[in-house]
Amino acid sequence: MKKIYLDNAATTPVSPEILAAMEPYFTNKFGNASEPHFWGQEARKAIDEAREKIANFLGAKPKEIIFTSCATESINLAHKGLIESIKYQVSSIKYPHIITSRVEHKAVLETCKHLEKIGWAKVTYLPVDKYGIVDIKDIRQAIRPETVLVSIMYTNNEVGTIEPIGKIGRLIKEINQSRISNLKSKIFFHTDATQAIQYLDCNVDGLGIDLLSFSGHKLYAPKGIGALYIRSGVPFVRQQDGGGQEYNLRAGTENVPYIVALGKAIELVEQNKVHSTKCIEKLKSKLIEGVLKISGVKLVGHPTNQAPHIATFIVEGAEGEAMLLLLSDKGIAASSGSACTSGLLKPSHVLTAMGYKPQEAHGSLRFSLGKDTTLKEIDYVVKVLPEVIKKLRKMAPKLI
Ligand code: PLP
Repeated sequence: MKKIYLDNAATTPVSPEILAAMEPYFTNKFGNASEPHFWGQEARKAIDEAREKIANFLGAKPKEIIFTSCATESINLAHKGLIESIKYQVSSIKYPHIITSRVEHKAVLETCKHLEKIGWAKVTYLPVDKYGIVDIKDIRQAIRPETVLVSIMYTNNEVGTIEPIGKIGRLIKEINQSRISNLKSKIFFHTDATQAIQYLDCNVDGLGIDLLSFSGHKLYAPKGIGALYIRSGVPFVRQQDGGGQEYNLRAGTENVPYIVALGKAIELVEQNKVHSTKCIEKLKSKLIEGVLKISGVKLVGHPTNQAPHIATFIVEGAEGEAMLLLLSDKGIAASSGSACTSGLLKPSHVLTAMGYKPQEAHGSLRFSLGKDTTLKEIDYVVKVLPEVIKKLRKMAPKLI
């Protein structure tokens, strides 16, 4: 049976070039980067090089890049590190205020809920429109004197919608300038760029970003490595105590092979961005065209303001998990909701925030393309999907 992997937004396979780059750091080049001897210095050099590649890619300085274990850790660190610093170092702010959106990944939403629960922050969860886009006017209106953090994702993982990150960055800059005289604290801007980094402009100065999170396993590096960009001057308290690694912001012996892998992954993203974006966009258009021929199926998310690799549909009269199982029987891997919410019976918080009824949200189906996706595979999916949907609709006739 053919195997077609269309779940690249959940994770990607490690690419051979990345595996080759990291491999020596498991065996011959195994040193601890904190040691002054030859092995240690070899490891230190490899970390420095990876950090520099990532910094260059983001238009940042190397010392502004902190390696973590994944995007979730980066997001936790960004929020908690900033909020703890403000809460205990700015006496005029009792409850630092965070503005975020209802469509963020759980890594952001659960971190914000935790900060509320322990009394470190108050949080505003902004609504979105039917495409999943946050309104700049809502951000402006939600800002209070205690607002210290705006955290809006760059690209939504469930529907692919791109948020107006550049505009939000400009708004925050403008507000910070007008606040200068009665300043309690600046407002800092964090974005979860996990689904964006591969395809979109991530220049932190151009976009006005102060903190940016992402992870390697969406970029053909292994699971277990991520990074956080922290602009110099952002008030910050580390959340993991111990040694002085990562500029004293994340203690623990560095995971050298995985850091090398992330550096290589970013190098490859930079080299292939334009070409791979064009190819994937073409394939995605073909997929959308084919899938929308099936009656009772609609595309969700913004029709144009969309990450190239994600296409999500709502299928009337068919349940998401059931579609995944039948597609899997045909050799096709897709997703329904995000990988992190599937397994729970709750409808996707993203789709319900976009105004879809729970019943509609249960019929969501996400295909996410990757660098190895081919036209033949897309043709096969377009051929097989109508049979799958037909079968499920027959089994649940009352739902149609
Ligand atoms: N943010 C977004 C937008 C994601 O898509 C994901 C993973 O699906 C995460 C955060 C969490 O990433 P990780 O699993 O690397 O912690």
